[in-house]
Amino acid sequence: MDIAVVGGGPAGLSFAWLMKGRRNYDVTVYEGLDKVGYKPCAWGLMNGVEDLIPLKKEHIVSEIKGFRIFLDGKIVHDIRGDERLGYIVDKPMMLRDMASQLNVKYKSNVSAKEGKPFVSSQELKADKVIFANGHYSLPKDRTVPAIQYVTDFPQDPEVVDFYFYSDLLGYAWVFPDREGAKIGIGGYADVNFLQERLKPLVKGRVSLFHGARVSDTGVVEDRLNGNYMGEALGTVYALTGEGIRPSIISAKIMAESILENKDFKKEFKKSKLYNSLKVHAKIVSDSKGKDKLEGLTKVLMKSDPKLVLKVALGDFNNFDLLKLLGRTIF
Ligand SMILES: Cc1cc2nc3c(=O)[nH]c(=O)nc-3n(C[C@H](O)[C@H](O)[C@H](O)COP(=O)(O)OP(=O)(O)OC[C@H]3O[C@@H](n4cnc5c(N)ncnc54)[C@H](O)[C@@H]3O)c2cc1C
Repeated sequence: MDIAVVGGGPAGLSFAWLMKGRRNYDVTVYEGLDKVGYKPCAWGLMNGVEDLIPLKKEHIVSEIKGFRIFLDGKIVHDIRGDERLGYIVDKPMMLRDMASQLNVKYKSNVSAKEGKPFVSSQELKADKVIFANGHYSLPKDRTVPAIQYVTDFPQDPEVVDFYFYSDLLGYAWVFPDREGAKIGIGGYADVNFLQERLKPLVKGRVSLFHGARVSDTGVVEDRLNGNYMGEALGTVYALTGEGIRPSIISAKIMAESILENKDFKKEFKKSKLYNSLKVHAKIVSDSKGKDKLEGLTKVLMKSDPKLVLKVALGDFNNFDLLKLLGRTIF
């Protein structure tokens, strides 16, 4: 079976990686750019997918062991422990290493002509085409803007900082980086507002400013037909913007469905990932409007930070939600 994957991000490459060496399956990844890992990202990868991708020592910039939460500039939680919550990875290096062992065609932008996929003027012939082309394939109203500065500010390599605001559905972040820090912000506002809001947090010498949109409305139900995975399917946690780990998990579900001849939609809908993405999206959509946003902010700031972390990471059950929000979601 010839499988064409559109997009060489975490979803597309993880899928190809998981299918590598499987008899009767040939996977080709078509990447529009001349390299992988170009998309702006803060490189935070949470625990849980180490056995799915070849995560090597040299890809790991640092291990995250603590987080701080600020509200309107004041610190609310400062949690540090010995336990690793996740990593800052050199995502471009990790993706490049994976791609070098896979069949990836670069400068191969895939576009649709009369309902058929084309690479330049040539029709893309495959038994199955899977779109893993990220936010680029989503309508604008399913995404929000995110911008980021790369600076040499010496952020503690083990600590990630989150800045919440009582008037913004979204947040700013300061993550450690090889060079110093990645300082960014994303949410339901225009780029000028986000840039102004971020100004006081930008410290150090800026070497790069970039941005992209990020999916913020959860899984796109009508794309659950086995032809989409990763952010193109909406696999980003709406409350946190975390998309690398969920995209890799969606690729795993896709690979297993194909290998075991199962229905992707059924398998995906059974997964913990589907349920947790849905809950995140509902919390965000229920928090639009000043009063509702203030309500959510209060809940997040006053609750046990370990519980907030569980929910943020998508690792919760209904009882956790009841404890956090005082109600169930569905
Ligand atoms: C500023 C910012 C910071 C972020 N920080 C984090 C973070 O710290 N941690 C985290 O977990 N998530 C983060 N995210 C989200 C995360 O980057 C994405 O959700 C994740 O990369 C999605 O993976 P993907 O493989 O589905 O798509 P992508 O990573 O978007 O990959 C899609 C690929 O498809 C290619 N492509 C697009 N269109 C075509 C086409 N027509 N033909 C061929 N190729 C095409 C693109 O060039 C790209 O390489 C961040 C997002 C932004 C914008």
